[in-house]
Amino acid sequence: MVHRRWFPAAEDLEASGEAQELLHARAAASARAGFGRSVFVRGVVEVSNFCRENCHYCGMRRDNRTLGRYRATHDALAELLVHHRPASITDINIQAGEDPVAAREVVLPLVRTLRRETPLGISVCLGTLSADITDALSEAGASTYIIKFELADPERYRALQAPGTLEERVAHIRWLAERGWKVSSGFICGLPGMDADAALGNFRLAESLPLIGCSVSPFVPGESTPLTAAPAAGIGQTLNAMAALRLMRPDWVIPAVSALNIAGPGTGYRRGLATGANLCTINLTPDGERENYLLYRRDRFIMNEERILAAISDEGLEVSKVRLADHLATAAG
Ligand code: SF4
Repeated sequence: MVHRRWFPAAEDLEASGEAQELLHARAAASARAGFGRSVFVRGVVEVSNFCRENCHYCGMRRDNRTLGRYRATHDALAELLVHHRPASITDINIQAGEDPVAAREVVLPLVRTLRRETPLGISVCLGTLSADITDALSEAGASTYIIKFELADPERYRALQAPGTLEERVAHIRWLAERGWKVSSGFICGLPGMDADAALGNFRLAESLPLIGCSVSPFVPGESTPLTAAPAAGIGQTLNAMAALRLMRPDWVIPAVSALNIAGPGTGYRRGLATGANLCTINLTPDGERENYLLYRRDRFIMNEERILAAISDEGLEVSKVRLADHLATAAG
């Protein structure tokens, strides 16, 4: 008998009241059935805000001339991560705008240092890089590649100047998986001009890809972007998408993204954990650089270790003792 996966309907993505509570409770139960009370905790360092892309939904787009650009140094990040990282993190995500110079000159040596000096599992989120640097990162010890497809509608993808074409992005995701990377992707919830069918399209595309995880990021109108006056995604809509993703793929690693704090001030992040998310990220980007890593706006709410551990504890969850990289090494994808 062919077992068909659960797939959301438009009503699930628009649920409110009792139906919404039920959807979220089912998603949380699904996460507990698959992962127990464990939540993976990783750190993130944002290495460079140079970006050769021009996505309308991002403050780091190349046409944003108001942004002070920075590239971190290997030595500063190595010192931080080898000697001063929070005790709770088992993994690190190294992230940057699409900046091949930073990938080669900062990230690659940093991955080598971390592999030699620490037990951290290593993921990278660096955009669409060439085969030689991608392979070098893998050989150096990074094992997970985070690359979001952002939205599954090819026309809107082009209109929003998302990286390359959607077809190329999807091909790159498949190519990374074929090369042995564990690949996590993601999409933006509530982008302007997206109807219910477009929202379901994100799920259809995610389901078709060789992924080990996927994120849902609420649309937040970014400072100094063409979408700065557009309405933000609501927290209910975002949490519904997260719950639907969890029910569609009980086995995936689904992060609680920091933008939940913007979509739902005060409680949004915790509600993400109560809706099936099983990965938290502590921001370790040094002060002075962090302000210019402008995905949305400068006054973003920073998730430090204290806030992450409080959110996990408040939801009756606990920090995973298993590295995310070790979990993924045995996961299908
Ligand atoms: S979303 Fe990523 S690729 Fe697009 S402009 Fe921002 S940093 Fe660059």
